[in-house]
Amino acid sequence: MHDFAYHRPRSSAEAVQLLARSQPGARYFAGGTTLFDLMKLGVEAPATVIDIGRVEGLREIDASDRAELRIGALAAMSDVAEHPVVQREFTALSESLWKAASQQLRNMASVGGNLLQRTRCAYFRGGPEFACNKRVPGSGCAALAGVNRGHAVLGGSEACVAVYPGDWAVALAAFDAQVDTLSPRGERAVAVRELHRAPGATPHLETVLAADELIVRIRVPRTPAGRASTYHKIRDRESYAFALASAAVGLHLRANRVVDARIALGGVATHPWRALEAERSLVGRPFTQAAARRAAEIAFAQAKPLEHNGFKVALGIETVTDALMLARDRS
Ligand SMILES: Cc1cc2nc3c(=O)[nH]c(=O)nc-3n(C[C@H](O)[C@H](O)[C@H](O)COP(=O)(O)OP(=O)(O)OC[C@H]3O[C@@H](n4cnc5c(N)ncnc54)[C@H](O)[C@@H]3O)c2cc1C
Ligand code: SF4
Repeated sequence: MHDFAYHRPRSSAEAVQLLARSQPGARYFAGGTTLFDLMKLGVEAPATVIDIGRVEGLREIDASDRAELRIGALAAMSDVAEHPVVQREFTALSESLWKAASQQLRNMASVGGNLLQRTRCAYFRGGPEFACNKRVPGSGCAALAGVNRGHAVLGGSEACVAVYPGDWAVALAAFDAQVDTLSPRGERAVAVRELHRAPGATPHLETVLAADELIVRIRVPRTPAGRASTYHKIRDRESYAFALASAAVGLHLRANRVVDARIALGGVATHPWRALEAERSLVGRPFTQAAARRAAEIAFAQAKPLEHNGFKVALGIETVTDALMLARDRS
């Protein structure tokens, strides 16, 4: 690994100032489970690493507010997954964390760092011999004509078809979560649904955050649909594997009529994918298995499969249908 400068600030304000004063390419470091991986692979080579692990006030999980849950960006994935209020009232969020990575990783990794993990596309991580627009803008995309079984069927472009790999952001997007950030320009809130960019012609630009912007907390509104929710994840192995297809789903039913429906997709799209049309097809109507299936088909109506990943459309439709039936049972 290359040499780099290392700082360990004690406050958010100090962290932000340190990063703003550093050379371009400096990075925050929370659990390090993504960043150090990418540094060892040579995908990232920051000249400065700012370790935010000792920053005070970023680990709290505050469930005291009646309107929303507040989670510090440094809270460990495992602590959030195990929190009784998260399990009871934000079930899909808890499940999205339980079904991610391994117990060791969940103990080490932060929920803020999880949001900013980068794609697992093998060409992106594989080294300079592979063309990759995300890694070297303008160099091409080896996945388009290569092995693309794990790649996206939704949201891809001619420049990049890499899947956004995370689970947590998919669940957060379904329930209209926001992230609060701090930078030298002050604080702002960003909807998780708008945090990740579609690749378009610039796949190297992955989020709407500025390089010096620190995520300080995540806020999730309390909703009846959040209580009757699930995160359904299909993968090659039952644990310790990324999603081939996943769905974060929540339902609010009154006398079996749908008052509110939430559907977000993972493992199939270039960014956490909210299926708004599919949600609209359910709202105001009686909930039936046929309606669930129709909503799932609508969610994949715009899918554009590649040579090796056509199976994701059928798998995704089954995943969403099953998730909706699970959420119905919980409502
Ligand atoms: C083998 C393996 C399997 C995995 N499986 C899954 C899986 O199935 N599902 C899943 O969702 N994830 C999975 N992951 C990813 C894992 O969950 C992430 O690596 C982890 O959540 C990242 O958190 P971290 O705190 O370690 O982030 P870091 O590695 O410290 O940081 C990640 C990125 O976020 C930035 N960053 C960190 N914190 C902040 C902040 N507060 N503000 C601004 N920027 C910040 C860093 O600069 C860096 O760019 C897996 C990882 C591994 C290694
Ligand atoms: S899919 Fe994206 S990340 Fe993968 S090789 Fe193509 S440009 Fe790179």
